[in-house]
Amino acid sequence: MNQYGAIEAGGTKFVCAIGSGPENLRYEKVLKTTTPDKTINQVLNFFRNNAQRGKLSAIGIGSFGPIDINRESASYGYILSTPKQHWKNTNIVGKIEEAFKIPVGFDTDVNAAALGEYEWGAAKGLSNFIYLTIGTGIGGGGMSNGNLLHGLLHPEMGHISIHHDFNEDPFKGNCPFHGDCFEGLASGPAIEARWGIIPQKLDENHEGWKLEAKYISLAITNYICTLSPQRIIIGGGVMNREKLLPMVHREIVNNLNTYIQLPEITQNIEDYIVLPGLGNQAGILGAIALARRVHSRSAKYKKCDNSIS
Ligand code: ZN
Repeated sequence: MNQYGAIEAGGTKFVCAIGSGPENLRYEKVLKTTTPDKTINQVLNFFRNNAQRGKLSAIGIGSFGPIDINRESASYGYILSTPKQHWKNTNIVGKIEEAFKIPVGFDTDVNAAALGEYEWGAAKGLSNFIYLTIGTGIGGGGMSNGNLLHGLLHPEMGHISIHHDFNEDPFKGNCPFHGDCFEGLASGPAIEARWGIIPQKLDENHEGWKLEAKYISLAITNYICTLSPQRIIIGGGVMNREKLLPMVHREIVNNLNTYIQLPEITQNIEDYIVLPGLGNQAGILGAIALARRVHSRSAKYKKCDNSIS
């Protein structure tokens, strides 16, 4: 059986694993994100030390961004204009390819998680859906007509502008690029900056949760109206607060105000906006799914090459 490497590359930690799917994911390792040289070397050593017989068929990387995923581009495989110190313009794919000489699949962390949910989780059988994460940052990916969402670059769903009533919420927002974009108002660090307490410790009945549900719902209402997804999956640490998702459901029904008359919204919104089927493993399994995809594609190309020669 093929074994694949998976890298969930985040701004605070890198998760690495080996396997081919949820049934045999093994050797999971969490590394602190420091400098590119140090962190990537630790990643390379992890795979060298743990891959059986030293062989992997492909590696998948789901990365924080923005990243260049256009294979025609000179900076393909790079992390681009990140505010994360040291990581701007890092050729992460090139370093992994050079070390192992195997195909490397590369996409955003949220598109990877979306692909994981499509293969094994809450998006099975769907061809149009989105995956959001609400944690230390906010991001969104997904599929349109069965293809992962790409275009000019890739979606940056965390950085949309949503209605911000300064009388209700005087917090200016903490996105270094936009101030009060969705991420600047509703990420975990935004909650902490506004209330002076981390979301995990914010009281169950604190008014902050109502505000959080409002911002998440405004953003999702925009996505429903622009992308018409068949399902919306929301992961990330902030969503661990159990009462938040039902509040989001109610707000979205209110926001749409009977405009979209479909049972998914009017009757079964609990099945329409859901937590990840793979739980907190969506990201790392998504990276395995990216590796499987790039491997099967490169095998097809090889077959074509052989038949020609
Ligand atoms: Zn922003």
